[in-house]
Amino acid sequence: MSKPKRKRKNRQSEDQGVDEIPRLPKTKPLQLRYYGDPILRKRAEPVQEITDIETKLAREMLMTLYATNGIGLAATQVGVLKRFLIVDIDPEDADYEPIMLFNPEILSVEGESVAEEGCLSIPDLRADVKRPEKIVVKAMNDYGEDIQIEADGLLARVIQHEIDHLNGTLFIDRISGLKRQLLRSELEKIQQADRPL
Ligand code: ZN
Repeated sequence: MSKPKRKRKNRQSEDQGVDEIPRLPKTKPLQLRYYGDPILRKRAEPVQEITDIETKLAREMLMTLYATNGIGLAATQVGVLKRFLIVDIDPEDADYEPIMLFNPEILSVEGESVAEEGCLSIPDLRADVKRPEKIVVKAMNDYGEDIQIEADGLLARVIQHEIDHLNGTLFIDRISGLKRQLLRSELEKIQQADRPL
């Protein structure tokens, strides 16, 4: 998911950033897949175990997330059909560890909230989306351990947005038909845009 529109916090110091995150040697960002790419409509496959391949993917996806100024990214968005997502709703806070979830599954939901969303795969388009306010999610972390997370607010929203990607669903599928009609020409532009690889 892309960052909500709000004032960026000032960085405490220049060297507080992705380079300082432990377990994260430098890798190159991956190529994002954009609206219109059929892979975004596919269902991703469960991950059986965390091997060097998954660890490398996790690192590369984090680099991609930070390079694109996003707050959440699903493996599908970099062309990998594995049930894996990363979330960092406060990338500028070096103390806040990014969340990496393999095979995430929503166990329960509560409440309802509406907020504007954007997506790294659908650049420059934003719309209000209604989702449950609180969720409980089970998943495997990047060490292969089973974990359970309770989330609300922005964190819950981003996790749900990214789980949707793993099922081939985009946030524009969750807005009303009328609103989607209004966005149609913008979506066509995004689909037809030339992007350097
Ligand atoms: Zn997205």
